[in-house]
Amino acid sequence: MAVSSLTTPAAATTTVPALAIRHLTVRYRQTEALSDVSVDIQAGEQIAIVGPNGAGKSTLLKAIAGLQPITSGEIRFFGAEQAEPNTIAYVPQRLQVDWRFPVSVSDVVLMGRVGRIGLLRRPSRHDRLLAQRALERVGLAAFANRQIGQLSGGQQQRVFLARALAQEARLLLMDEPLVGLDIPSQDEIFRALAALRAEGVTILTALHDLQQAARYFDRVMLLNRRLIAYAPAREAFTAANLVATYGGHLHLLSSGDGLLTVADTCCNPTPDGAV
Ligand code: ADP
Ligand code: MG
Repeated sequence: MAVSSLTTPAAATTTVPALAIRHLTVRYRQTEALSDVSVDIQAGEQIAIVGPNGAGKSTLLKAIAGLQPITSGEIRFFGAEQAEPNTIAYVPQRLQVDWRFPVSVSDVVLMGRVGRIGLLRRPSRHDRLLAQRALERVGLAAFANRQIGQLSGGQQQRVFLARALAQEARLLLMDEPLVGLDIPSQDEIFRALAALRAEGVTILTALHDLQQAARYFDRVMLLNRRLIAYAPAREAFTAANLVATYGGHLHLLSSGDGLLTVADTCCNPTPDGAV
């Protein structure tokens, strides 16, 4: 149906969020991992999800990826009930991947094309070119023929970012991609993420480091089973929000740029909310 731009209704010009999450609750047998979470995530934004262990970060990413059944509520993808095929790339925590799997780096990236080319068809030159370009963009062109298990942890993470690029994913979900990596490897990941940002990919990353969340991400989601805050770091990292997120395991410091820093241990627990 052709719609003249002159008659486009006002509603159509407002942007549809990449993700619209409404009253999302996820319950495991004993535990309510997520409780009534509602949030709109705009397309092209990079979001850090922060919160203590057990806050429901992994559960949220899996629920969005369709790997975890939801108990109630809904998740809409660009306005639709179901994400279009191949539009979501999910990178699990490193420990959940069997790195002995005998495939080459370029094979892993080409797998990102499978959904587009079909399982039984051979990758075309175009597919191979896209895979090669994706590896170049994450700085791994020289590693194309290595076995995935021979790469360092940071390089392996970047292979998955290359796969998301080759897949032409619109939404990238990463679960604690920086755990166990040294600082140079972490920097390489942020450089690789910039390639996805340039493509307009919406990125949700579970993360531990609040400074990195503030520095590299457009917004942070403070999560502790329920949504405490969703805003740019400067607005989200208030004392009250951090106490609500981290509870007694909290030690607040004002740093030079006005941000608050949180340590995991607390010498002198304060009563609820008082800092
Ligand atoms: P995070 O990633 O923030 O550490 P998770 O989403 O892994 O948090 O876990 C949230 C809560 O749900 C925790 O209490 C955890 O023990 C529980 N949980 C996570 N996965 C399962 C599962 N498969 N079965 C039962 N409980 C689970
Ligand atoms: Mg987790």
